[in-house]
Amino acid sequence: MSNNKNNKGDKTHNCSFCGKNAEDASMLIKGMDANICDECAESAWEMVESTLVNENSKKTNNNKGVSKEQIQGSFQNQKPVAIKEHLDQYIIGQDNAKKFIAVAVYNHYKRLLHEENVGDVKQEVELEKSNMLLVGETGTGKTLFARTIARLLGVPFAIADATSLTEAGYVGEDVENILTRLLQSANYDVSAAEKGIIFIDEIDKIARKSESQSITRDVSGEGVQQALLKILEGTVVNVPPEGGRKHPEQKFIQVNTKNILFICGGAFDGIQRKIAARLNTKTVGFGQNQINQNIDRENLLQYVTAKDIRNFGLIPELVGRIPVIAYLSPLNKDALRRILTEPRNAIIRQYETLFKMDDVKLKFEAKALDFIVEKALEYKLGARGLRSICEAIMIEAMYDLPAYKEKTFTVTLKYATEQFLKNSPSFTITNNKL
Ligand code: ADP
Repeated sequence: MSNNKNNKGDKTHNCSFCGKNAEDASMLIKGMDANICDECAESAWEMVESTLVNENSKKTNNNKGVSKEQIQGSFQNQKPVAIKEHLDQYIIGQDNAKKFIAVAVYNHYKRLLHEENVGDVKQEVELEKSNMLLVGETGTGKTLFARTIARLLGVPFAIADATSLTEAGYVGEDVENILTRLLQSANYDVSAAEKGIIFIDEIDKIARKSESQSITRDVSGEGVQQALLKILEGTVVNVPPEGGRKHPEQKFIQVNTKNILFICGGAFDGIQRKIAARLNTKTVGFGQNQINQNIDRENLLQYVTAKDIRNFGLIPELVGRIPVIAYLSPLNKDALRRILTEPRNAIIRQYETLFKMDDVKLKFEAKALDFIVEKALEYKLGARGLRSICEAIMIEAMYDLPAYKEKTFTVTLKYATEQFLKNSPSFTITNNKL
């Protein structure tokens, strides 16, 4: 390879990329079978550089990640009380779970700081991570918790669904794919991902079907639990960067899960029976009546322990790795009513915003709101049903909204009832029920 700065008179050589004659280029680099002019070389370098930057942020482990200062900042600003206050803005009630999550997140920052300090001063105490489990009926806000913390945190966060996971080699997602999602949320910054938080939803769905050991392999149950266990315990995992199946030709990214905090959620349908059985057997003997009287039979989930979770079908080793268990209460009438209007992005506030964009002030009669809550309770739809009931009531008003001439639109009980009857055939409703 040679370069010729002074190409005056050189009519025999051209740039192999743009065809420019050597005489017209400021510089022409000559190779064995091809030449490149300075401009094409510059463009080529730009292409190489942008690819390298992308590849590096994807594939190298040398990124700075979440810096000590960032963690320090989160640690200073997000004390448990502040985290709970933040959750209060979006989630109604569930104080027990809020406190547990606030402490778990705060302790997570502490562990990260502690680990950072290990390099500076020798630490005598190793802080173990406290993965946590949220137990609550469907629609009580487990996913809402996950999303709300995700917004708050200064560390990467990913949500995964345990039902989609299978043991390696079976049809379905490999457990490693959970980490792919975390890597993606960390923009492929491995060291940031290694400090992240993962929410695994529907963990109850991978419970062992029977308490006895099965001889045949249990594709969706114990095998997946074993695979999850390794990740929860802390290990170095080969993660496929784009997810999907492991292909031999795919380059893996190694992720150490030691410092990743896992928050699991599940409805654990039917666990109440196991809790009741445990509480009843415990009450035999002295003090029996007193204990029995104090039990709130309407909400047995509040008594859930690791033993009940094991009885439900999660393997003891996995339960042992999730030391913090919090419960979410079923939502009663009062909670549903508050959910309609109080959270920062409450459903009613969302409709008000939509109307405001058409310069119409939307108002709801208190009785209309009560009606929405009653229907959600009547059809056992919980908080999840509030939205579909509101949609049925509001659809016509929203359809006519752009042409609406008045400044205010009020949803009365009469209007809500009529619209609900008209637009909600799926609720199979009869007049006398209203
Ligand atoms: P889960 O994950 O427990 O099945 P979700 O978090 O998906 O339940 O909640 C279903 C719907 O109900 C969501 O729209 C959520 O915003 C709302 N919701 C549930 N619980 C609450 C709560 N405590 N406060 C405010 N909204 C709630």
